[in-house]
Amino acid sequence: MSDTNTGATPESSNFLRTLIAAQLASGQQSHVVTRFPPEPNGYPHIGHAKSICLNFGLAQEAGGVCHLRMDDTNPTKESQEYVDALARDVRWLGFDWGPHFYHASDCFADCYRYAEQLVVEGRAYVDSQSEEEIRANRGTISEPGRPGPYRDRSPAENLDLLRRMRAGEFPDGAHVLRAKADLGAANMKMRDPLLYRIRHAHHHRSGDAWCIYPMYDYAHPISDAVEGITHSICTLEFENNRDIYDWVIDNCRPTPRLHTEKNGGACRPRQYEFARLALSYTVVSKRKLLRLVQDGQVSGWDDPRMPTLAGLRRRGVRPEAIRLFCERIGVSKANSTVDIEVLEGCIREDLNLCAPRRMAVLRPLKVIVESWPEGAVDLLEAPEWPPEQAAEDPGKRGSRTVPFMRELYIEREDFMEEPSKGFRRLAPGREVRLRYGYIVRCEGVIRDEDGQITALRCTHDPDSRSGSASPEGAGRKVSAVIHWVPATGNMPVEVRLYDRLFRHPAPDAGDEDFLTHVNPDSLERLTALAEPALRESRPGDRFQLERLGYFFHEAEDSTAALPVLNRITGLRDTMKREADAAKPETVKPEKPEAVKPEKPETAKPVKAARTLGPEEQARLDGLLAAGISAEDAERISTDGRLWAFHAAALAHHPNARGLAAWIANDLLRALKERELSAIGLTPAGLAGLVVQIDSGRITGRTAKDLWPELLAGADLEEMIRARGLEAVADTGAIDALIDAVIAANADKAAAYRGGRATLLGFFVGAVMKASGGKANPALVQERTKARLG
Ligand code: ATP
Ligand code: MG
Repeated sequence: MSDTNTGATPESSNFLRTLIAAQLASGQQSHVVTRFPPEPNGYPHIGHAKSICLNFGLAQEAGGVCHLRMDDTNPTKESQEYVDALARDVRWLGFDWGPHFYHASDCFADCYRYAEQLVVEGRAYVDSQSEEEIRANRGTISEPGRPGPYRDRSPAENLDLLRRMRAGEFPDGAHVLRAKADLGAANMKMRDPLLYRIRHAHHHRSGDAWCIYPMYDYAHPISDAVEGITHSICTLEFENNRDIYDWVIDNCRPTPRLHTEKNGGACRPRQYEFARLALSYTVVSKRKLLRLVQDGQVSGWDDPRMPTLAGLRRRGVRPEAIRLFCERIGVSKANSTVDIEVLEGCIREDLNLCAPRRMAVLRPLKVIVESWPEGAVDLLEAPEWPPEQAAEDPGKRGSRTVPFMRELYIEREDFMEEPSKGFRRLAPGREVRLRYGYIVRCEGVIRDEDGQITALRCTHDPDSRSGSASPEGAGRKVSAVIHWVPATGNMPVEVRLYDRLFRHPAPDAGDEDFLTHVNPDSLERLTALAEPALRESRPGDRFQLERLGYFFHEAEDSTAALPVLNRITGLRDTMKREADAAKPETVKPEKPEAVKPEKPETAKPVKAARTLGPEEQARLDGLLAAGISAEDAERISTDGRLWAFHAAALAHHPNARGLAAWIANDLLRALKERELSAIGLTPAGLAGLVVQIDSGRITGRTAKDLWPELLAGADLEEMIRARGLEAVADTGAIDALIDAVIAANADKAAAYRGGRATLLGFFVGAVMKASGGKANPALVQERTKARLG
């Protein structure tokens, strides 16, 4: 029975890595040559990725080489299309076989030569029994096999028959060549295994040169030995075939042709087995994937729902994510099913760091901001990266502008006319913040003749512009932040949302046909509206569409009228989201210079990726009740160190949420590199930092800059004083900055004075920027208003 690996404690051990290191250290092996040997009868899938990463990875780490070898011993199912797909996808995954691209068919002549040798030496014979007779005479686990009537043919007769088989004198199935091994062997596979069969079939490479083809069990060890392979790594189901493997090597004694300078002309490859990858909610078998294609369940091998590498690539997954996954699941000898969430988690982890943020609305609902002046536009500055990434990487400080105007679109599901319990977003009489923009309040709805809501009537709070910060404006608590796009200048796109291809966690485990478990709703196509910045997008680009997930601008579908954005994955597991939909949302209120600015993707509660123990669950509940974001709460509740740190800091300063943001993100990150005992910052020290931010004495930006030194144990007070880091609260200094900004933007100042009140936000933002983030935001807001008159 296989068990399920939830990935909560990723096993990343790799017994082969350990073994090879020991072999090299002891001198048992002088070098490493591996191979990835796919059969070109389909496109490679995520299971193959495990084998590719393993074989190429082990060789790389040992300074050896890895061959790519097409195991093309079965001419009827193989094709050049598959050969090309395999080679392309191995390269896409990031591996290079150099000059070592081979085919099992390269060794057909060797195989035949060794077959004649076996026959001459009396170690193999031509058997003329039918398939059924052979099976019947093979015995059972409790009974040994019985010799058939042809087992004692003389070497001369066998050689004659073998040559005539090869010459095409006999029809398919008339004879086979068998090893004269051991009919009494406990391992049934050793009861005279088949070495050759007759197949009058055209081969995609060798053409019609052969009408007998070697069996995998015979050709594989010979290819390995001829290519100078040292470690022949295969999946566990071949464990019993290892005896045949050794028998062939010992009895044929093949001469290596490659790497002879390293192996002195002798090579004894050995077979090692590892557990194949099984993944929940999908199938990983080329044969079954072919059925999905042939049955029309998917559009082809590269359908973005397929677990093939071509499908994953077209969906938008990066090879980095797949390599991360293969490393994380580890390599063992125990078969298990990996939860598909582990793969999804790796994909998210990879994309989080490389996908800039954008907004789009999937199911648009118009919003008319009636208090907004007709024709006025406020160009909001929207950072492309979350602040923690921008703080760490100067290349991630960019932003795009999003025009805020009187008519906008929001997500239909972000509005409920009669809000259910726990619904915190827009409803009549309620307020939400429009991401990067203003707080709006729903005053009423507009209906069509059928009574359907076609638009919302809203008003906005002019003092609530994001980034500006009057206590009654930007700092006001709202229960949700939602995404939106402007009504003018947006871009229609075709969005394709994918769900799991199967509804059953183990679609091919039961007796029923696995196709009965196909999820009929695995693809949803929508025409969505994207923010104007998406006009710059090119095929191959990836984004995080806020609150919606990670998307890929795909290139393959040239028939689509609009640009196609594939959803690579949601921000959180969608199955869980459904389960949680009924629960109330926890949304971070915004704060001026918030330590952790709004992050809509955490707006939904997160159920831990694994089942929490009662103690952890109690912690989580307490943290959520204290208003801590779901994501931060989950991290803290499941890590005893963070939990204790938070509790201790809370004794010094009651801002649970502010403390949590630092602990669950910045401190946790630091703990990845060192022990808590090596960190100089104490819980009281962190509380002191948050006190300074909350009181407005230093800005969040300054705090971030000081963080590395604080971790190292530096004294906050001393740094603030010695470096003059206090937020600029000096009215004279701020006024000077404001005047400079006004002078540089005389046209905008005139427009403001002429009635475009919305431009206030622009000025506040510019002054904050000019102060290097050190100005007291509330003061800037107040003074700017006054100076603009
Ligand atoms: P399939 O059933 O998909 O055809 P296979 O094992 O027949 O799988 P091959 O093309 O023969 O496919 O496999 C090439 C290599 O990849 C082999 O070494 C095989 O062991 C390995 N491999 C195939 N599937 C998996 C998997 N799910 N996990 C790990 N390795 C795999
Ligand atoms: Mg196969």
